[in-house]
Amino acid sequence: MSRSLVIGNWKMHGSLAFVEELLGQLLAEQGRFSAQVVVCPPTLYLPKAAEQLAGSSIAWGAQNFSEHAEGAFTGEVSASMLADLNSCYAIVGHSERRSLFGETDSVVAAKFVAAQTAGLTPVLCVGESLEQRESVETLSVITQQLIAVLDVAGAQALKNVVIAYEPVWAIGTGKTATPRQAQEVHAHIRQVLTTYDAEQAGQISLLYGGSVNSANAQTLFAEQDIDGALVGGASLKADEFVSICEACK
Ligand code: PEP
Repeated sequence: MSRSLVIGNWKMHGSLAFVEELLGQLLAEQGRFSAQVVVCPPTLYLPKAAEQLAGSSIAWGAQNFSEHAEGAFTGEVSASMLADLNSCYAIVGHSERRSLFGETDSVVAAKFVAAQTAGLTPVLCVGESLEQRESVETLSVITQQLIAVLDVAGAQALKNVVIAYEPVWAIGTGKTATPRQAQEVHAHIRQVLTTYDAEQAGQISLLYGGSVNSANAQTLFAEQDIDGALVGGASLKADEFVSICEACK
């Protein structure tokens, strides 16, 4: 199966009219995509996305959900509720969830397991801060973030997972990691995954995220271990997102 995958993380943007328009534009261009394309709109708009994208080649997923299966958790949404809407993917451990909502490695691990239990594919985000990069801690930070989840979820978890390397300093800043910097980390991630399951490690989609746009996507995707992208800002503009999806072969 191809590892090529592009996921759009819309964050807290849009409206019903915006969803209708952007998905309409993506549907009109879907014949140009050879990669699997996924959109993650705000949770409230997932039913709309599910209705509009049903039967198309574009899949949908969630940006966030509870680590709990059900219960008295006011305001929360469970992974099985997302699966009810035929969501296929769920982002886990995004740096905004870690830094703004206090999600620790153990919460990230619990959400990862909850997603898989509900039949969703978790998109596990890992990445270092600028300070950590400057103190040459990048690879050890990434290793730690992976181990924190995989030691809880177990090696069998690798059968259904996507990993996104998202350097925190590159998210929403316009500063992209160079293809070489990103490839170095991606190769390291695949190496860590190999210690859990060498066969699966070769099949897992490793996405780069951090200010990906139509101008830099192609050179990033040319790297051996960069299989696609997790795209924030540029996924809100149809022409930009279509170009990125097209560049992912
Ligand atoms: C993200 O939020 O996952 C992201 C990569 O954002 P951006 O593309 O805007 O940097």
